[in-house]
Amino acid sequence: MKRLNGVSTSPGIVIGKLFFYQGNEFHDIPRYAVGKTQVDAEWRRFLTAIEAAAEDVQALHDKAVLETSKERADIFQAHLMMLEDTEFQNQIKERLEADRENIEWIVWDISREIVSKMQSSPDAYLRERAVDIADVSHRIIHKLLGIKEFSLADLTEDVILVAHDLLPSEVLTMNKDRVKGILMDMGGPTSHAAILTRAFGIPAVLGLSVVTRETNAGDILVVDGNAGQVIINPNKNTLVKYQDAIKQYQRKRDKLLSTVDFPAETKDGHLVSLKANIEIPEEAEQVLRYGAEGIGLYRSEFLYLTPGQAAEEERQYHAYSTVLKAMGNLPVTIRTLDVGGDKVSPNIPSSDDKNPLLGWRAIRMCLAMPDLFKTQLRAILRASVHGNVKIMFPMISGVEELEQVLLLLEEAKAECLQKKQRFSKKIEVGTMIEIPSAALTADVLACKSDFFSLGTNDLLQYTLAVDRGNEKVSYLAQPFHPAVLRILKLTIDAAHARGIKAAMCGELAGVTLVTPILLGLGLDEFSMTAAAIPMVKQIIRGTTIEDCRILAEKAMVSTSYKQIDALVNAWMAEHFPNN
Ligand code: PEP
Ligand code: MG
Repeated sequence: MKRLNGVSTSPGIVIGKLFFYQGNEFHDIPRYAVGKTQVDAEWRRFLTAIEAAAEDVQALHDKAVLETSKERADIFQAHLMMLEDTEFQNQIKERLEADRENIEWIVWDISREIVSKMQSSPDAYLRERAVDIADVSHRIIHKLLGIKEFSLADLTEDVILVAHDLLPSEVLTMNKDRVKGILMDMGGPTSHAAILTRAFGIPAVLGLSVVTRETNAGDILVVDGNAGQVIINPNKNTLVKYQDAIKQYQRKRDKLLSTVDFPAETKDGHLVSLKANIEIPEEAEQVLRYGAEGIGLYRSEFLYLTPGQAAEEERQYHAYSTVLKAMGNLPVTIRTLDVGGDKVSPNIPSSDDKNPLLGWRAIRMCLAMPDLFKTQLRAILRASVHGNVKIMFPMISGVEELEQVLLLLEEAKAECLQKKQRFSKKIEVGTMIEIPSAALTADVLACKSDFFSLGTNDLLQYTLAVDRGNEKVSYLAQPFHPAVLRILKLTIDAAHARGIKAAMCGELAGVTLVTPILLGLGLDEFSMTAAAIPMVKQIIRGTTIEDCRILAEKAMVSTSYKQIDALVNAWMAEHFPNN
């Protein structure tokens, strides 16, 4: 038996069998020269690889037909045609004869060129098809390198997934009924892989550094997502202890769920709003079970992250309408596309940024590709007739960006009007405050915003210079750092001075230890992973706004995060002795 400590990223306890996942990404494609006499042999390798790839695609196509999934069947039919495309094959052959390099490198290089050209094409159809070319060439390269592809969507038994790192798209597409727990070497609590594990209610411990090294096939694992611990091959006593802990945890959760219909109101009558964050439309209905009063953050970019599926306007319109209809009249805040950083979309050109988190992401990308952005805005506008939608923009760094965005929104509205497409005339428009420069100019941004939403995952990352996905520095991401509290107060005060609401949709909104301070600072709306709502509500209903204000005032004059941490922990122990 061995115990490892990591970062608790998704609560819950689960016991299960290890499944080790290595991922399908190839980072280094071998590149080497081949002699004149080897050219034929390389070409034959290519032909064998496309034949094998075509067999796989044919099987996938037939399966899709059997499952009567016309959309998937059509995609695989298109892939088969690409594999047979003589123009593509001739291009490869010509390059092979001219450059005399190994065939996997040539396939990789040519397909990269084609994909990037298609992705930047003004033609929407071509942009959407780039994802298929990328998919087909990946398949051929896998065959050439002899790597067996495995999709987490194909898991057929219950497992605890162990991986060095997982892409958000891998968490998104895995078979969520079978993955009972997740353990990773990498990752911090606000990495997108972590956010998704919470959204799907899968207990997870990340940032374990050595879990892939310390575990072996056949191991039994206990994932304690509450304590951020893993027990490898527990002895009998430990196993019994955790089986009891599972039952106890379930009882506690059931009890908390009994408050779903109560308002989020302090004992002295101060009312706030508790909403849910979602990543995929299917989550929308479930959030009501936890008492969400709406959706405060719909991370729309996950529509763009699904491999093999382009986010055309109709698909987006359908997704947004589904969410709005599921929520009835409750407000739904759709955050516009925020790819880049750790969210790499197979469907959108990426830049080879040396510093992706400081690079070409979110609104910067959207402003550089106005057609892509307006496609999303039109889809949201059209869906607005199905409910109560708000739009919010990520990674705004200053007023110029906000002005450009608002101009594009007006253009998108004009385009809808021209096509006689209806949309709601009363859509609130919000700015995410997640870059220090936005917080410091919040008074200016407030004049052009209907609301603010504090994205504390990025705000902490940029204020404290801590990569949110890097487990080695995650200890520095201290919510009680005086700089963080000052920047939060500044933003909330600026919102109130203009008479607009200050919301928070970063992970801090769902951390009960931070709830009293946020209340005391005047936060109006908390949006979080749905399962955290009952716990945050319990804190709100168990305190007074007066007490929280006094606590926040004391915290604001403290000088270090350790001091504030001690202050808040003592306050919690006094006010919530049983928690
Ligand atoms: C944030 O940064 O706090 C946020 C809500 O956005 P994301 O986590 O998607 O970057
Ligand atoms: Mg963010």
